[in-house]
Amino acid sequence: MSSNQSADGAELPGVPVIQDPATAAALLSAGGLVAIPTETVYGLAADITDLAAVARIFSAKGRPTGHPLILHVADVETARRFGVLDARAEALAMLWPGPLTMIVSATEAVPREVTGGRDTVAIRVPEHQLTLQVLSTLDGAVAAPSANRFGRVSPTTAQHVIDDLGDILDPDRDAILDGGPCLVGVESTIVDLTCDPPQILRPGGVPSPLLDRLLEPVDGSSIVAATGPARASGMLPSHYAPERGVVLVEREDREILDPEALVIDRADDPVEAARHLYDDLRRADTSIDRDRSEPIVVVQPPNDGGLGSAVRDRLKKAAAPRERQTTNPTG
Ligand code: AMP
Ligand code: MG
Repeated sequence: MSSNQSADGAELPGVPVIQDPATAAALLSAGGLVAIPTETVYGLAADITDLAAVARIFSAKGRPTGHPLILHVADVETARRFGVLDARAEALAMLWPGPLTMIVSATEAVPREVTGGRDTVAIRVPEHQLTLQVLSTLDGAVAAPSANRFGRVSPTTAQHVIDDLGDILDPDRDAILDGGPCLVGVESTIVDLTCDPPQILRPGGVPSPLLDRLLEPVDGSSIVAATGPARASGMLPSHYAPERGVVLVEREDREILDPEALVIDRADDPVEAARHLYDDLRRADTSIDRDRSEPIVVVQPPNDGGLGSAVRDRLKKAAAPRERQTTNPTG
């Protein structure tokens, strides 16, 4: 049963949920928006050559324009049409398809509406067969931020996208390509290669020691944590937050738990913790009694290292004070 059908098989209004990559590519070519599955989270994609479609990404998400979007392409050859890949970028490209976004100098082929006016561009090759087929058919690039409304956590299933954008997308032009649940579950690692040494703007699916190992033979460089003003949503103190308050509790502090709190504990398995993180947080929002002002979702984070670091990073931001409601322009 497609998500557009009720239990008795009747068609429900709303954006179509499709499984066919050729249809998705055709919709994108015609200026539509398509929510695409990737290994990290679902993205809301538009063909970058269609500036009206790119503008609709911002309005559908409620995300202020001028915030740069990540380009998704089918392979490294296509990436070279949009970004200048130096020796370091070429070395890291061996991780594609995969959860690594590189920020490099943009070529003339990139409309500056996609980069927020910058001459640098964020690019990656996602690892999902359906989406790779869409991208090869398109033979170009899509811009795709996470397919959620501003202020909500990222979507990792087609149903999450329906929940956030089902009523906002245009049923006649847009679609959701259902590729099943995302396997990694947290956003890509973002590496800025336009600075020296390269900086990690957001920890994600690729662990930083692996990046170091690939970069070291090229020019001896190793990745450092980001410095300077926030350039990625991942650098903001608060982000990725559900509606309910979130408290992080380390294992040794478990006894302070509110007995009524909803506890999420996947600490022993960072891969599962990442894969289910956003679904856990979304379910927390819907399963807690709305009348209770406090608390709260209590989460025991996995240890640092590998995906554990990415999960801890997202959880810290989910638990951070919510001044983002007014100051964080991302989603
Ligand atoms: P998301 O918010 O998940 O769409 O992640 C994309 C992030 O990558 C954004 O927060 C941007 O700030 C960052 N980003 C994308 N393009 C660039 C760029 N050209 N230069 C610096 N950061 C970028
Ligand atoms: Mg996002």
